[in-house]
Amino acid sequence: MIPVTRRPPRLFVVSFVYWVLLTYMVAALLWWFIALDKQNRDITNIRLNELRKDEPSYFEKSVAIMEAKKRKTAQYLGEGVTFLALIMFGAVYVYRATRRQFRVSQQQQNFMMAITHELKTPIAVAQLNLETLQKRKLDEDKQQKLISNTLQEANRLNVLCNNILFASQLDAGAYSPTNEEVNFSDLVEGCVDDCRNRFPHRVIIEHIGESIYLTGETLLLQMLVNNLLDNALKYSPKEAPVTITLSEASQRVKLVVSDEGFGVPDSEKKNIFEKFYRSGNENTRKAKGTGLGLYLCKKIVENHNGYISVTDNSPSGSSFAASFPVA
Ligand code: ADP
Repeated sequence: MIPVTRRPPRLFVVSFVYWVLLTYMVAALLWWFIALDKQNRDITNIRLNELRKDEPSYFEKSVAIMEAKKRKTAQYLGEGVTFLALIMFGAVYVYRATRRQFRVSQQQQNFMMAITHELKTPIAVAQLNLETLQKRKLDEDKQQKLISNTLQEANRLNVLCNNILFASQLDAGAYSPTNEEVNFSDLVEGCVDDCRNRFPHRVIIEHIGESIYLTGETLLLQMLVNNLLDNALKYSPKEAPVTITLSEASQRVKLVVSDEGFGVPDSEKKNIFEKFYRSGNENTRKAKGTGLGLYLCKKIVENHNGYISVTDNSPSGSSFAASFPVA
């Protein structure tokens, strides 16, 4: 994998320029205030010196001069504080916008690296399997194993392409979901069966309420359930079970997918629904993925007037819950 070497120096240069400019602006403001205050004091002294001490209105005039000095000081102070507030407001705004921009570009680079890997691996595996089948006379068992492995990889490629396609369509507002009455119980059951076929050695426990309906789009809802199930299986050990629950109560339909895996740290719970977000580093991470799955889940749930959240599962792992209004 190609290491990303450009990002840290660029961030360093931008941060350095930013802090130099900010320091310069604040120092210039401070210098401006000190200079004006000195000028004010000098003018006041000159005007006081010009007064004749023996004239009868000396006292009133000197009080007026001192008052004028105070007014000027207050004016400079007011202007200075306003400028400082504006500079600080702009600085915070620029800082946050730049940070966000860097994070997005970092995530996009992560995504590009992940996707290259994700696209190449299934193609290479399928190619190798097919070449083996073509060149060698294998017994029936081995043939079936290679075929099912190739189908699995093709399926992974298909899911990946669908995710990318839907993400770009949803982003561009180019996707208008159809609103039909969907038997969500059957849909979830179908996804679980499909998952069991794809991962025959994994334990998937289901508690699926009967005849639960949703208004929405079958394809998107399938994508939601599959992404949540795939993540639960991907981010938990092979021997740990995954539980899926579908229930209806208080006019809400609730889908919960729980695992007993590594869980999501509290500091990342908010971020994982962002586009391209993946915890850890692309160079060191072992689990495959693109960081699009949960982003799509959130978009799909919102498209169905619902909300999605993640909590810690007991004793370990995480629980993803999607809640929808009933059909
Ligand atoms: P991907 O799985 O392709 O990386 P997702 O958008 O599906 O992208 O997930 C984003 C991140 O959220 C993952 O990289 C992973 O760190 C974390 N995550 C998602 N599901 C789980 C889970 N069930 N357990 C632990 N971490 C998870």
